[in-house]
Amino acid sequence: MRRTQVSINLTALRHNLQRVHQAAPGCRVMAAIKANGYGHGLVRVAQALNDSDSFGVACLDEALRLRAAGVSAPITLLEGFFHADELPLIQRHQLDVLLHHEHQIIALERATLRTPIRVWLKIDTGMHRLGVSPESAPSLWHRLASLPALQLMGQMTHLACADERDHPATGQQLSQFAQATEGLPGERAIANSAGILGWPETHSDWVRPGIMLY
Ligand SMILES: *Cc1c(COP(=O)(O)O)cnc(C)c1O
Repeated sequence: MRRTQVSINLTALRHNLQRVHQAAPGCRVMAAIKANGYGHGLVRVAQALNDSDSFGVACLDEALRLRAAGVSAPITLLEGFFHADELPLIQRHQLDVLLHHEHQIIALERATLRTPIRVWLKIDTGMHRLGVSPESAPSLWHRLASLPALQLMGQMTHLACADERDHPATGQQLSQFAQATEGLPGERAIANSAGILGWPETHSDWVRPGIMLY
C-alpha cells in the first residue's frame, strides 16, 4: 500500500495571514477554517493562526473540537445553529452565531438565554446561498435588538463573483448591502479572499479570508 503524505507548513499559514493584514490594513480578521481548515487540520490551523480575531467554522461540532483543544479565541458559527437545542452549548462555550434565516431569530425569541450570545445578521445580496433578504434585514435587526440576551455584532454578506475583477455583481452587492444596512449600528463584514485581494472597497470593519490562507 502506498501512503500519501501531506506536509503542512504552519509558517506559510502565518505568512498568509500577514498578507491579509497587508492587503486589508486595520481590518479585523475572521479566519475561515471551516471544513477541517479546508482539509488542513482544524486545530493545527487554528493554532497557527492564533492572532486572528475570530475563527469561522461550519458547525457546532467543529467549534467544540477547537474548544476541547484549548482554543479560547472567539469562534463564529458561519451557519449559526440548526436547532434551538444547540443554544445551551453555544452559550456554555461562548460561540458567536451568524443568523441567516428568520427561523433562527424566532428560536432566539422563544429561548430562555442565561448568558449573552453574540450574533451577526447575514444578508443575501446575491450569493443566493445563505442570508436574509435585503428588504427584511432592517426589521429583523430591530427584532434582534429588542432581545436583551443578545449582543449584536453587525451585518455580514458574502460576495458571489469577486474573483472576476470586472464582474458587475460585486458593485451591485455592495450597494444592496449599503442600502439594507443604512442607519443600522454595528460592524460590517463583506470580503472573502477574492474581496480582500481584488476589491479594497469591500474591506469594511472585518474581512473573512478562507482560501488565501492556505
Ligand atoms: C468560507 C467562507 C469565507 C471564506 O471564503 P474564501 O472564498 O475561501 O475566502 C468567508 N465567509 C464565509 C461566510 C464563508 O463561509
